Amino acid sequence: MTPQVPPGRTSLPVVSPRGVGQLRGAQSFPDAARGALADPQLRRNLGNATATIRAKREAVVGEVPDWQALRAAGAAIKDDTLRRLPELLVRLEERVTAAGGTVHWARDAAEANAIVTRLVRATGADEVVKVKSMATQEIGLNEALAEAGIHALETDLAELIVQLADDRPSHILVPAIHRNRTEIRDIFLAHMADVDPDLTDEPRALAMAARRYLRRKFLTARVAVSGANFAVADTGTLSVVESEGNGRMCLTLPETLITVMGIEKLVPTWEDLEVFLQLLPRSATGERMNPYTSFWTGVHPGDGPQDVHLVLLDNGRTAVLADEYGRDALRCIRCSACLNVCPVYERTGGHAYGSVYPGPIGAVLSPQLTGVEDNASLPYASSLCGACFDACPVAIDIPSMLVHLREQHVEAQAAARTVPTVEAAAMKAAAWMMSDASRWSGAQRAARVGRLIGRDRGDGDRRIRTLPPPMNGWTATRDAPVPASQSFRDWWRGREEGTT
Ligand code: SF4
Repeated sequence: MTPQVPPGRTSLPVVSPRGVGQLRGAQSFPDAARGALADPQLRRNLGNATATIRAKREAVVGEVPDWQALRAAGAAIKDDTLRRLPELLVRLEERVTAAGGTVHWARDAAEANAIVTRLVRATGADEVVKVKSMATQEIGLNEALAEAGIHALETDLAELIVQLADDRPSHILVPAIHRNRTEIRDIFLAHMADVDPDLTDEPRALAMAARRYLRRKFLTARVAVSGANFAVADTGTLSVVESEGNGRMCLTLPETLITVMGIEKLVPTWEDLEVFLQLLPRSATGERMNPYTSFWTGVHPGDGPQDVHLVLLDNGRTAVLADEYGRDALRCIRCSACLNVCPVYERTGGHAYGSVYPGPIGAVLSPQLTGVEDNASLPYASSLCGACFDACPVAIDIPSMLVHLREQHVEAQAAARTVPTVEAAAMKAAAWMMSDASRWSGAQRAARVGRLIGRDRGDGDRRIRTLPPPMNGWTATRDAPVPASQSFRDWWRGREEGTT
């Protein structure tokens, strides 16, 4: 499919630009993961939280007899939407405009931030309330607004915890998953104005403290910024699903509402939405339906926000769409099911991924949005066990996409080098050896020398702890098995000749 250019534009960026937004980490995944793995409290917090969500999800998904058919329907609707994206986006713009809203097109993070800052400035407000939005985190909107002297207050409880602690989210749906309730009480006591000094770490007490704090903000805020889980092209309706009701306060009380939405969040019709409103809550929080599902279509005089804006964000998505193997990532409905089943995520947490999108989908989406070379370690942040594919409600084959991205990275590296890497040279030598039966047999006989450096682990299993350079990179984090004393071919020949 050839990427289309939105109206009024002559060109699109290939990927999300550097220096703005939160798609690139300061460290590679292995370096960041090493620090996370050294924190036992973090691993306990993550292990407890993901195990709980996993069990809830499995129970409610198991109740739906046609779950696989629903998954297939979700995938098919998203594929159809992506195929017709240019036409559907134009239809959405027409419907939103006809309903009294204003649509803005943002090629990248910098443009989206500039648009939102200009809109907030025009209201004269110096504070905005926000309903949790991955798109605004992706573009670094809070930081951009802060530079313009505007404070953005997160109102999702977990986002608020992360913001008060000057921390970063580490999960798509549960941004403070890496914190336990005692840590949260300490954060409230240290950073929340007027909080009861005797506040306990009981969940209800913490929720009530946050409620009191946020209620004052909701009643005075003039501008709200939101994301959107879905947008219905046929009617120009936007939707946010959430668990706390704080989002709904943002969406209804302020005078001005600005929504920043990735262009892939579209569905063509209300009937299509029905499928996702079944898939999302069960996959995300293990609930049969969301406690709060809000819809809004343009402006309704005397009711709700009177100035409504929609910022349609590209920021690399068109580049993803142009990749016929990679575009399935745009089906993602950000449910987090793949994070909660991932053995790598469970041990490292979200910060190790560097990007605002962690876990298996982050390992795919972040390198696609930034270009693989800017997030080159992420496609390797996986055991390729396939648990994410099984859990994904829109059947994104994440393991195959990770392999696809690894291939892109290896090819880019090879093209950029005049001298091949040790690994590339070793692979070439292995290919040469394996392409000839006598060479391969000779190599197998020679490899038996390796038995001499094998050591018994104490259970009768002999392993090689350290290989000489340049192969020591392999044994730096794992043992290597000792070569067998007899190859299969030798054994077979002996069997045929009656000597084995
Ligand atoms: S990739 Fe699938 S499982 Fe992961 S967040 Fe997206 S929709 Fe959910």
